[in-house]
Amino acid sequence: MAQGHSIDEYLETIYFLAFPIGEYRPQAPGSPTLAARVAEMLGVSRASAGEMLKRLEAEGLIERGEHKEALLTEDGLARAERVVRKHRIIERMLTDFMGYTAAEAHVHADELGDTFSEEMVDRIAERLGGPERCPHGWPVDTTFEQAENPELAPLAELEPGTKATIVRLAEHDGELLHWFYDQGLEPGRELEVRSAAPGDAMTVAVDGGERTVAQKAAAGLFVRPAA
Ligand SMILES: [Zn+2]
Repeated sequence: MAQGHSIDEYLETIYFLAFPIGEYRPQAPGSPTLAARVAEMLGVSRASAGEMLKRLEAEGLIERGEHKEALLTEDGLARAERVVRKHRIIERMLTDFMGYTAAEAHVHADELGDTFSEEMVDRIAERLGGPERCPHGWPVDTTFEQAENPELAPLAELEPGTKATIVRLAEHDGELLHWFYDQGLEPGRELEVRSAAPGDAMTVAVDGGERTVAQKAAAGLFVRPAA
């Protein structure tokens, strides 16, 4: 989108960063601050992200933490939860009703986000039979989502020999999302880590073959390790 991202898209991104799974959010000293992470995830300059964060702060949707990181306020969290729920239901409308692929659905859902009112989204959800997850595995119910987070880990944290089931795919990077589906790395699939070296790509067995998964991809693929 040429004119930049909406407040809702920023809230969606901050929400994603606020509920990290594993070590997805870098916290080491000298690691990028949240403004930089938001900019990276939305593909905008750090200056644009900084401007928008100021606006969110002025509107009482975020406040600044000890290290200037953006924290959702109570209002901000409530709105962010409505935004992500809406996004996930619209994605299901796009796949289940309109026949888009899961990889295509995310971008179109972003475009449609502001089109539907809360009430329309409730009606869509009802017509779809109350879907529990978006096509990429993210729960529609954000309370359930947050409760499930500790059960999941990014693929990047798994040791060789670990078996796991793919549960959710990071969807903010459209190219990466298409790549996951091209490789058969879809929610519900079981995989086994064959090799993993720190700072290097991993090899996983999935769907009867082996795939090389780059670090960035392995950090955005959330799995449930086998007990
Ligand atoms: Zn999704």
